[in-house]
Amino acid sequence: MSATIIDSKKIGQEIRDEVKTAVDKRLERGLSAPGLATVLVGENPASKVYVRNKQKACAEVGIISFGHHLPEDATQEEVEALVRQLNADPAVNGILVQLPLPRHLDEEKVLTAIDLNKDVDGFHPINIGRLAQKGREPVFVPCTPAGSIVLLERAGAKLSGANAVVLGRSNIVGMPVALLLVKANATVTICHSRTRDLPAVVREADVLVAAIGQPEFVKKDWVKPGAIIIDVGINQVEDPSAQKGYRLVGDVAFDEVSEVAGAITPVPGGVGPMTIAMLLKNTLRAAELADQA
Ligand code: NDP
Repeated sequence: MSATIIDSKKIGQEIRDEVKTAVDKRLERGLSAPGLATVLVGENPASKVYVRNKQKACAEVGIISFGHHLPEDATQEEVEALVRQLNADPAVNGILVQLPLPRHLDEEKVLTAIDLNKDVDGFHPINIGRLAQKGREPVFVPCTPAGSIVLLERAGAKLSGANAVVLGRSNIVGMPVALLLVKANATVTICHSRTRDLPAVVREADVLVAAIGQPEFVKKDWVKPGAIIIDVGINQVEDPSAQKGYRLVGDVAFDEVSEVAGAITPVPGGVGPMTIAMLLKNTLRAAELADQA
């Protein structure tokens, strides 16, 4: 194996430590602890785990979390009313609506109801719009994409002028990552399910971000030697030898691609730890913005 393994657990922990130090300093100065409200609608098991992990991470750095759990059949009005209530609550600095919402709810309307200055997930259409515009800055950037860029920078990627290829164009990962790479002056190609000859496109990449949700999809012979790779994908594959009967793999065939890439994130332990670290950082910033208001 020749690639450097990008140690996102370590980088994520450094960010958490920085947030904890800043929160402690706030408290010493008589300022309030930052507050994060989580809104979970329904019983999606993965969403429950994500929310629990976010609350646990908040507690570790001194951020207060306010958990709100609405039933699966909550109405659009009930969800939006909760968001408005949280917008008006000065103890709440950040609001995180756990996605996906149950199908009967209009996700865009719920996200639009969040106060821009409390949009710590960065999915408010105005924040995303500003991300797409030259010379404009969003108040918050979505956590997984922001974490991916931090990992690239820490891995020594020179983004300015680099050929960057993003696999996936979802609202929550692919598209915001691509927009951030454009802001960092990379030349960006966004690939999706209709892209022709994906291996040929990927071969041009100095920097590759894979977020398609397809297990071990990117192969060794697609990768330019020395490329820096962020594998966002988290996929379950059957593994009878594992205790749970499955194991987690990324969108990149890690073992073989590691032989040619310059640096790569492993899965598990890749971008996941960064997502929560960036959420904590955004929540701290939301509290700082509230101090200035
Ligand atoms: P989505 O399913 O919303 O989007 C997948 C994207 O990949 C789409 O744009 C789709 O194209 C594209 N795609 C799917 N199959 C192919 C293919 N065979 N060839 C080319 N493009 C393809 O996924 P998400 O963005 O939500 O998540 C992507 C992965 O990242 C998942 O594995 C998810 O678990 C993981 N993830 C990890 C996070 C973390 O914290 N580490 C956070 C969020 C997600 P099209 O648009 O044409 O349909």
